[in-house]
Parts: sequence; structure tokens; C-alpha cells
Amino acid sequence: MHYDYLVVGAGLFGAVFANLAKNAGKSALVIDKRSHIAGNIYTRNIENINVHVYGAHIFHTNNRDVWEYLNRFVVFNRYTNSPIANFNGEIYSLPFNMYTFNKMWGVVTPEQARLKIEEQIKKTGIVDPKNLEEQAISLVGTDIYEKLIKGYTEKQWGRECKMLPSSIIKRLPVRFTYDNNYFNALYQGIPVGGYTGMVEKMLTGIDVELNADYLDNRDYYDRIADMVIFTGQIDAYYNYQFGPLEYRSLRFENEIMKISNYQGNAVVNYTDKETPYTRIIEHKWFNFGKDESGHDILKTIISKEFPSEWKVGEEPFYPVNNSRNNELFLKYKALSECEKDRVQFGGRLGMYKYFDMDSVVMEAMKLFYRIN
Ligand code: UDP
Repeated sequence: MHYDYLVVGAGLFGAVFANLAKNAGKSALVIDKRSHIAGNIYTRNIENINVHVYGAHIFHTNNRDVWEYLNRFVVFNRYTNSPIANFNGEIYSLPFNMYTFNKMWGVVTPEQARLKIEEQIKKTGIVDPKNLEEQAISLVGTDIYEKLIKGYTEKQWGRECKMLPSSIIKRLPVRFTYDNNYFNALYQGIPVGGYTGMVEKMLTGIDVELNADYLDNRDYYDRIADMVIFTGQIDAYYNYQFGPLEYRSLRFENEIMKISNYQGNAVVNYTDKETPYTRIIEHKWFNFGKDESGHDILKTIISKEFPSEWKVGEEPFYPVNNSRNNELFLKYKALSECEKDRVQFGGRLGMYKYFDMDSVVMEAMKLFYRIN
């Protein structure tokens, strides 16, 4: 069998691309080196709870086309992300909003909160923020930076806030309203039945091969398709010839507990620097503690998330988009330009960008319509 496309990686980018190809009458083979589809949005049903095996994923978007496209495959529930921060036992609302400011300083009105933040920024003398630390302080002042940002960020990225790009913190909204919704998005939710079912639907009627490593069998796979859509690491594809890009990896410690409620929320961030994990996810709350028939689930499953530096052979989760790595990525990108009729790169790892899921869907759509 010869295919129009070989899609390497059965994650969200690969699934969208292959689905669009199939709808347009093109043939695609999707392969993945893991033993399952869905990449890092993979969910597994354990004890009637959809466990987000590679970390929590909450879908959110402002793009109606993306929302309607995904709703063809699955119904989304009404989950709204409202994480809380635990700083040495003190609980704060996230993202930074009037509840956070009230708990931190006792202020009640937006005006009082603004004044407090402005006063703190003034004291630091920062006018033109140059890194994550300065950017964070310029947004929310020093108290929130010290208690809710510094420890968490340095654990997550394994680097000092001064050494990190400000773009990372710009992902987090700051609101002068009493609104605990983490995302500024028109549409939000989690697929009923989990993400794996959604991806399965997207891949219906498409050939899928699991436990199949493209890089180990390059000659074979290159021969069976006209074009490769590669969603793995671009530096690995080019044998790390300019040196490896840096990524952050994650390790999860999961526990099934015979209690019905461990922490009272799906996501609790540990923002102090001493706790070795960044957050604890209690998966049942992504579906309001209920199984698919609407019954309350009696047990619970929690996952502690431990960030670490990525090494060759481990799972990469986040690109580290500082200037050193972005420049290195451009070198790999230039190589890919020379063979753009044979191979295209997609997703967080192929494009080396800290994408949210909706951007991944948009990028896959963009690529498909650009080359078709
Ligand atoms: N962040 C923080 N404190 C928190 C949560 C997030 O300082 O309690 C910062 C941190 O730098 C993190 C960034 O905000 O890397 C983005 O967080 P987000 O929740 O978007 O990360 P993700 O869910 O993608 O891991």
C-alpha cells in the first residue's frame, strides 16, 4: 500500500491532519512509537475515572471553527478550570483575580487592588521588563510574585525566573474581577468519556500502526508515502546534528485512594519552592466526581507532577523557548525548508513551541490547507 501521507505521531496534530486528509479523499498512515493513540492528551479509564495520563488537559479556545470541528467527534462537558494555589498551607485563587488580591491584602475593590500592585511595582523601579521575573512583578507586584509565581515557575522550568522568557507568564491572565476561570476563552470543556475517545473518532477509517518507531525504520517508512508529517522532535529527526534542543520532562506519581475526596478540586498548585512537585491533579473533578451514568464515584485517583530536565530517551513535554533554543530551532527549521516537499513538521515538538491544544488544531488545519 502506498499512502499520500505518513503521519508520524498519533497525537492531536497528527489526528487532525490525518482526519482532514481522509475527508479530502487522501490516504494516510498514522504511526506512533507508543502503544496507544492520542499522544500526551491520552486518557485512560481507571475505576470509572478518566485519568489524564500525561498531565491535565483542559480544552479551551476562542476559535469557533476549532470548537465546532472538535465537537463533531465528541461532546464536551462544562468543566471550567479554577485551580487553587497552596503556598505553605495558605490557599489562593487562580488565576490572579480579586479573590487572590482580597486574600493577599484584604482589598475589596479593583481600584484598591490596582493601587496596591502599582505601589509594589514602583518600589522595584522596573519599567521595561526584560525577563519572566520582571514581567511577573510588573503584572502583579512583588507579594504575588514571591508567593505564587517564583517557587512554582523555578520548579517547573528548573531555571531562575530571571533566566526565563516573559512570554511564559503572559499565558496567565490577571483580572480585576471576581472570576476564578483560569482561561480567557469563549469555549471550554473536557471530552465526555476522555480525550482518547475523541482521537479514536478522528482516526476512524484511517490506518494506524502502534509501537512503530519512524526513526528506527526511516528507509521503509519513507518509501511507503509521498510525504511525511513529522510531529516528533525536530532535532531528533535531524540526528541532533546541531546539538539537542532543551525540553522539560514530567514524572507522575499516581495513587488510587479509597476515599471520595482528597483535595476538593481538580488542580492544586504547590507554589512554594520546598514541595518537590508542582501540582496535584485529582482526576475525578474534571467530571464533577461522577461516572458516565451520573453516579458519584466513591474512590479517587491523584497524580503528583514532578518536573525534570529532559534527557535523550525520556518523554519531552515542554519546549524551553529561550533565545538560545529558539535560535537553535531556526537552524533545524532551515534544514527542513530544503526538503519541504518531502517532510513537514507539526505540533509542540515538531514546531518547538509551547502550544495549547486549540493552537495545535489550528496549526494542523493551516498546514493541511496550505499544502492541499
Ligand atoms: N505559573 C505560576 N504559578 C502558578 C501557575 C502557573 O507562576 O500557580 C506560571 C509558571 O511560570 C508556568 C506558567 O505560569 O510555567 C504557565 O502556566 P500554565 O498553567 O499555563 O502551564 P501548563 O498548564 O501549560 O503547564
